[in-house]
Amino acid sequence: MRKTEIRRGTVGGLKFPNQGIVRTDEGVFVVKNTLPGQTISFYVRKKRAGRNEGQLEEIISPSPEETETPCPHFRICGGCAYQSVPAETENEWKRQMVSDLLASCVSEYPGMADRGYFEGIVPSPEAEGYRNKMEFSFGNMEKGGALTLGMHVSGRFHDVVTVEHCRIADPDMITLLKAVLDYALSRSWSAFNRNTHEGFLRHLLIRKGQRSGEILLDLVTTSGGGTLPEDFKDMLLSLKLEGQLSGILHTVNDALSDAIVNEETRLLYGRDYFTETILGKDFRITPFSFFQTNSAGAEVLYRKVREFAGEKKRRLIFDLYCGTGTIAQIMSDLAEKVVGVEVVEEAAEAAKENAERNGIDNIDFISADVAKVVSGLPERPELVVVDPPREGMSPKALGGLLRLGAESIIYVSCKPTSLVRDMKELFNAGYSLKRAAAVNLFPRTTGIETVALFAKE
Ligand code: SAH
Repeated sequence: MRKTEIRRGTVGGLKFPNQGIVRTDEGVFVVKNTLPGQTISFYVRKKRAGRNEGQLEEIISPSPEETETPCPHFRICGGCAYQSVPAETENEWKRQMVSDLLASCVSEYPGMADRGYFEGIVPSPEAEGYRNKMEFSFGNMEKGGALTLGMHVSGRFHDVVTVEHCRIADPDMITLLKAVLDYALSRSWSAFNRNTHEGFLRHLLIRKGQRSGEILLDLVTTSGGGTLPEDFKDMLLSLKLEGQLSGILHTVNDALSDAIVNEETRLLYGRDYFTETILGKDFRITPFSFFQTNSAGAEVLYRKVREFAGEKKRRLIFDLYCGTGTIAQIMSDLAEKVVGVEVVEEAAEAAKENAERNGIDNIDFISADVAKVVSGLPERPELVVVDPPREGMSPKALGGLLRLGAESIIYVSCKPTSLVRDMKELFNAGYSLKRAAAVNLFPRTTGIETVALFAKE
């Protein structure tokens, strides 16, 4: 990449996920990792009609909105984008980003959206220590450097910064992180290196029920080191924590990709799940099942889904991409029957057991790929809730959804650009946008959840 052309400018606005917009005489540039109001210098990376890209060289002066003392790892750690501004500012920026994205799509489809469809952003009840799950990586800060445990360094995928002051993780997670790192250092264990395929330690997965206080800890390593010493577990159990460890696990993963692959999980202590209470319902969550990472925020999100569904009683509701069945359960009193579809078998199994435990008997959970089963399901639902992963729905799944011909569709999306892409197909199929709202499930980070209600006359 040639880095010779440098420009200077002030960031005027934001484009999802965290790209500052800088207007210059040559046109508009988008520059990642910048905030509105900052004066910056940047390298010209790409010049294209309508979209020029810049790479940040230096923040020359901060934004007038930057009034908070951020976490000491800010700008090194790749985890957060909005540490230096108040929660209200972040919420306002995210509201504007989602509003602009939806409006850009709606403007291409005149008459397909109700007036005033966008209801703004609902903040997270907590903006500090809210995360119920952290997936820390082992690594180092430079090649051959000391062992680190924490988050990937922003823009440098191989480096890991130890995050001993993380503001968004639950405080117990940081206590555990430090203890596991100290233990690993005392044993001279090394991090798995994805280039040489040598080393032992890969990830430390910690999940905690914010309501129950139950903590599930899983150390992920390669198979090279064999079983973990007995005193690893004893060391963890002797720590002073606000919550309590309900399970200690050791997962073996020799796969080359960075994702946690569960080749074998050994239970070292307790049980292999933790529990959490959401809107009065109890959920048992297994180590690899999806569960919203902000428990109080999830309640706000699910309340919004319920509000969009209205109080009308339906015969049949589908919950597609249902995870451990949270939405299906929360909607179960609105229908004679609910069908949940989830591809991860472990999650679908847990969903069944959770519903039973909560005394709900009108939900069928199917463990399958939505794209494969959706058009083959025998009955026609009046309402379908979809909550796909970041990439949105596959064309096949979306086609199947449209063939169901439900009166109403509630689309829950953790990536508004995917929602906007899929929304075009909904408009083309005759659905109109009735209501939409953003929910800030991921304070301080670039993440944002969007809920949208579509209906067909
Ligand atoms: N609605 C749930 C889960 C949403 S996350 C909740 O609020 O907790 C998306 C879920 O979709 C994950 O559980 C993931 O395992 C599942 N998933 C991903 N691709 C899928 C597919 N093709 N078919 C079915 N489920 C899928």
